[in-house]
Amino acid sequence: MPNETRGGGARRGQEVLQRLRERPPSIWYGGEAVQDVTTHPALKGGVHTLASLYDLQWEKADITLYDSPTSGKKVARSFMMPKTREELASISRAMKVWEDRTFGMMGRVPDYINRAMTGYAAGAPFLAEADPRFGQNAVRYYEYLRENDLCLTHTLIPPQANRAVSAAKQADPFLAARIKEETDAGIVIRGCRMLATLPISDEIMVFPSTLLKSPEEDAPYAFGFSIPNDTPGLRFICRESVDYGRSHFDHPLGSRFEEMDAVVIFDDVFVPWENVFLYRDIKRCNEAYARTGALAHMTHQVVVKNIAKCEFVMGLSSLLVTTIGAEIFQHIQEKLAEIWVNLETMKAFLRAAEADAQLDEWGVMRPAWNPLDAARNLFPRLYPRMVEIIQQIGASGLVAMPTERDLKGPLAEDIRKYYQAARAEAFDRIPLFRLAWDTALSAFGSRQVLYERFFFGDPVRMAGALVTGHNSQIQEYAEKVRAFVKQNRDEAFAAGSATQGN
Ligand SMILES: Cc1cc2nc3c(=O)[nH]c(=O)nc-3n(C[C@H](O)[C@H](O)[C@H](O)COP(=O)(O)OP(=O)(O)OC[C@H]3O[C@@H](n4cnc5c(N)ncnc54)[C@H](O)[C@@H]3O)c2cc1C
Repeated sequence: MPNETRGGGARRGQEVLQRLRERPPSIWYGGEAVQDVTTHPALKGGVHTLASLYDLQWEKADITLYDSPTSGKKVARSFMMPKTREELASISRAMKVWEDRTFGMMGRVPDYINRAMTGYAAGAPFLAEADPRFGQNAVRYYEYLRENDLCLTHTLIPPQANRAVSAAKQADPFLAARIKEETDAGIVIRGCRMLATLPISDEIMVFPSTLLKSPEEDAPYAFGFSIPNDTPGLRFICRESVDYGRSHFDHPLGSRFEEMDAVVIFDDVFVPWENVFLYRDIKRCNEAYARTGALAHMTHQVVVKNIAKCEFVMGLSSLLVTTIGAEIFQHIQEKLAEIWVNLETMKAFLRAAEADAQLDEWGVMRPAWNPLDAARNLFPRLYPRMVEIIQQIGASGLVAMPTERDLKGPLAEDIRKYYQAARAEAFDRIPLFRLAWDTALSAFGSRQVLYERFFFGDPVRMAGALVTGHNSQIQEYAEKVRAFVKQNRDEAFAAGSATQGN
């Protein structure tokens, strides 16, 4: 990280593209190093959408930007440290702008990590308790991001080799990214992290995994830092693209919103001390998300994404139904109602999180955790179900779907005749059903389902954390029930009482 935190403030799309060209992330695709992510067929769709979001923030500047407290320049509102509930709500309104443009289908729009890093910087005193430098680093890095409007990916978990044992007990102790060396200037990391979505970005936050257990064994795996994506030795290996240069007509979502996922290799990557936020401190690594507020601020962003996604599925399902005249069937209405309830549930969670927000120990207005926690545990079940509903509504219409070339080919008149629908010409019906297919059936659609199931963590372990985390509240309810049971028993066995009722 440069020592100075000056920058031009909120970026526009051209600046995003230019930086990706000048400082290309070290991305590998199909066995080859990608020279230019802005033109590569597997990546350019997502890259150009990303750039367009930065243009959009200027088009909606009154909602999405605010005045930097240090430079006075316009910067992205997702970097704001809110002091009031109104400021907090202004952040979710700003984040909704990008979510509306992407229909919630780019889970890792930069707002996500912007909120995380804002949380980490707000909670810098917590990081500083371990080493004053770490607190300073977090604040300086956050300001550097904000003033330069950089875009981040992040990575948390070790590779999926043997989940029955910890990182330290894998066949090779350097399978999972691990501290190899420490010098006066910084640390050297060797090994791998399982996943980073949006490698088409400027820098990477390597967060601590929250699963560290043994102070001795796990210490070499306990660190939090951030580095540019072109740092020597850092490599991203991409999965196969869900799109690979197909037209917007054929792949309406995939061709635009392919954010890409990659495995991250650290081949003796040097990380200067000024980029380190957490180091070898297992307890602090495990607590950092929650204590700093990063977790709540990130989840706030996630719920905004969920709302946009529900709105999209609601609109899409309604159009599908009316296009083929299926709205008369009661079970179809029930399914539309189910999506509506999901949408209103997410909106209610957001509203509750903002209405019950409190100033935290760092003086930042933190959204209330309970509704956010409920939302993050619920949505992994709601989204796959909504995709199932689209399949149930669309049925064979989701596969009877010619491509752009078919429509422009010699069978166009056949297509015009036989693909018509009750309320749409064939050439209007087909793009609608292609959209439904890309939501519910394509590689893009399946990856979205997998994303919603897992991106915030394993739902099984998240549920466990929920029960542990809310145990005292749960026990209050248990006490109420216990008192009623006891009262019932005492009444029945009270001397001289007669059993009543039957
Ligand atoms: C599309 C997508 C994008 C993602 N993007 C990112 C990203 O940008 N950055 C990032 O850091 N991560 C990302 N993730 C990773 C995400 O954090 C993990 O998927 C999640 O934490 C679950 O871990 P895992 O995939 O390694 O599953 P595993 O831990 O390997 O689990 C596999 C199965 O074993 C079970 N299991 C494993 N261990 C236990 C246990 N101890 N107790 C009970 N059951 C267990 C799980 O329930 C699951 O059914 C992404 C994931 C997906 C699918």
